[in-house]
Amino acid sequence: MITVFRPETPGELFELVKSQPAPHYFLAGGTDLLVQHKDGAIGPSTWFDLTAISELTGIRQEDGKIVLGATTTHDELVRSPLIQRYAPVLVQGAEVIGGPQIRNRGTVGGNLANGSPAADTAPPLYTLEAEVGLSNGQRTRWLPIADFFLHVRKTALEPGELITALRFPAREGIQGGFMRLGQRRSQAISKVSVAVSAVGRFDYLAIACGSVAPTVVRAPQAEAILREQGMAGLEEACRLIRDEVKPISDVRSTADYRRATTGVLLRRVLEQLDSGPRR
Ligand SMILES: Cc1cc2nc3c(=O)[nH]c(=O)nc-3n(C[C@H](O)[C@H](O)[C@H](O)COP(=O)(O)OP(=O)(O)OC[C@H]3O[C@@H](n4cnc5c(N)ncnc54)[C@H](O)[C@@H]3O)c2cc1C
Repeated sequence: MITVFRPETPGELFELVKSQPAPHYFLAGGTDLLVQHKDGAIGPSTWFDLTAISELTGIRQEDGKIVLGATTTHDELVRSPLIQRYAPVLVQGAEVIGGPQIRNRGTVGGNLANGSPAADTAPPLYTLEAEVGLSNGQRTRWLPIADFFLHVRKTALEPGELITALRFPAREGIQGGFMRLGQRRSQAISKVSVAVSAVGRFDYLAIACGSVAPTVVRAPQAEAILREQGMAGLEEACRLIRDEVKPISDVRSTADYRRATTGVLLRRVLEQLDSGPRR
């Protein structure tokens, strides 16, 4: 049997977590959890619906940072003027997730909590140098996103710990691009994805790749050559990045295909950035 509670404050939530029988699951949009339950991967358990807790929602600018609540939906990310201005890469990551129904329900916290290297908000958040806010009711901590993801389906989340928010610096003039390859253009899990955030050419530059290693990976060598040479370093960066990723072959793709297309996607994203802001 599944028992569901819908607390209205973080205090109420953590009291329930303490008092109710395990196993526990947080329920945000339910677009992953309900599928896992339907597939029989989740048995009798206690679920805590997060959607009535107003502290977990909203996007704001605070002390030079953009802060977004964990239950912010993908659709809210796409439509937010703050995200459009300070995280265009995240707009592009969120707008390709699922279809309209999934984007309307699915949340950024749920996307990260799964620990999937194919989660489409993760590479964009790496390029923004985001931090993940975590709380167990007694202790709140902020982890760089690269320390949050440990391995496939393994995160730094401790039992009973909740993702409360994400935050990243509000960089003026930032541009961004995200592209992915999947079985289809939409409703498909990424086989490979590349995210880039940049200010100028390139005062700030971060590149991150999804689905090509157990966690999302940055590409420090490709970044360095582009910082040094600007777009003149494009060929070299696309060559270098193929050796910076560590893909495997699985049911969705082969390691060789993933390696080769990482370079192709990097070129496309950088050429798109070079031709000016998309929106
Ligand atoms: C048809 C379909 C298409 C999809 N397409 C894509 C796609 O293109 N790209 C993509 O990346 N994903 C895709 N997904 C996966 C899913 O929609 C996303 O990962 C979504 O962001 C999950 O968020 P949610 O709020 O629905 O999570 P939920 O299902 O509510 O939760 C997922 C997991 O995270 C935990 N959790 C949720 N919130 C928190 C929190 N704040 N703190 C700690 N743990 C938490 C839950 O306990 C659960 O274990 C798709 C899913 C479906 C069904």
